[in-house]
Amino acid sequence: MRPVNTGNGAGYNPRDTLSFKSTASDNLKLLGYCPIDNTKGKFSLTDCLAAWLRYRQTELERIHSKKKTKSATWTALVQVKNAIENQVGTIYKTAAVPLSEQLGTFCSYCGQPLYTSVEVEHVLPKANYPTFSTSWKNFVLACGPCNGKKGKSDKPSRSEAILWTNKTNPTEGELYTAIRAHYSWPDTQPMAYRWMPVRLGWVKNGSWIEFSASESVNLNNIILSTSLSTRKVIAQVYINNIPKQGEVQAQVVYDKSKPTAFAMKGMVNLNLIGNTANTYDRRMMNRTVAWFHILGLIKVFSQVKMNAQTWQTLLLMARVTGFYSTWVSVLNLSNLKFDQTKWVDKFVSDSASFKNPDFFPNTVTTDVP
Ligand SMILES: [Zn+2]
Repeated sequence: MRPVNTGNGAGYNPRDTLSFKSTASDNLKLLGYCPIDNTKGKFSLTDCLAAWLRYRQTELERIHSKKKTKSATWTALVQVKNAIENQVGTIYKTAAVPLSEQLGTFCSYCGQPLYTSVEVEHVLPKANYPTFSTSWKNFVLACGPCNGKKGKSDKPSRSEAILWTNKTNPTEGELYTAIRAHYSWPDTQPMAYRWMPVRLGWVKNGSWIEFSASESVNLNNIILSTSLSTRKVIAQVYINNIPKQGEVQAQVVYDKSKPTAFAMKGMVNLNLIGNTANTYDRRMMNRTVAWFHILGLIKVFSQVKMNAQTWQTLLLMARVTGFYSTWVSVLNLSNLKFDQTKWVDKFVSDSASFKNPDFFPNTVTTDVP
């Protein structure tokens, strides 16, 4: 995960009213919300999001009490929720361009380059916390598998988050603060370099066995084959200078002693292989392949004379490869130096430079390993 600063949302201008046709407009009035312009069925966005939240709270109460009856209020809530959710989708999706300009086109969780299919990811899932469904401060960028994994679970649940606030009836703002504090999010956790590094290891009998630092960044390690159908990567890795072959994975390692980082493990399942019939989630395979591409690139670059131009080319290769945290982990373990500066330090500061928006803009660099 790359720690990022999402900024103040310049360029994202969500509209503050929604307009509905008669059914949704009538139902909103039935529920007690006053239109701003009755003839156009126009309501404030704040009221619409409040109605959506009321729907969710009522739905949870109904699940809890196993209530099956359909009151007029419930029927109206279901109808307006669907109408509101539709329009809210057209609002938050307009954040994709300003977010891409701010952060570069990479998934904020797994680090894949996003050449297409850039998704606006709600840190607090909109189904449980609709109040923040159009708020810039609740957005990061994500790839389909990360957004899908997270969206499917709608984690954390409201009941879970309420416990974290230590209050019986917390406000939505208090829930937001508690959820932000409970996890290491890309836009709030500068310790990601240290608490969630990437490491390489064998896969043997269903277990992952980490290589030593020098084994994992031996510049002669190479990939032998990858399989799209199983997402398995077979490589040749030098152990005590003897080449060994087998299945390898570059996994994100979550520091167990840091609860907010460890909590991220189950949030987007970055180390998932999944069932082999579904080849959609290629995140770990792509990260493992990226590890070996990085080794190959730094092998070449460590043999040429480093100057401003060759260094810039290396950064450009990193931009194309993506997987920023894999770059940082490999460079950190390989301990290469450019004049007196460690490559990893120079990589992080130069690639984050605001003057180079084509690289990794607005990376938070306060805790480089
Ligand atoms: Zn992702």
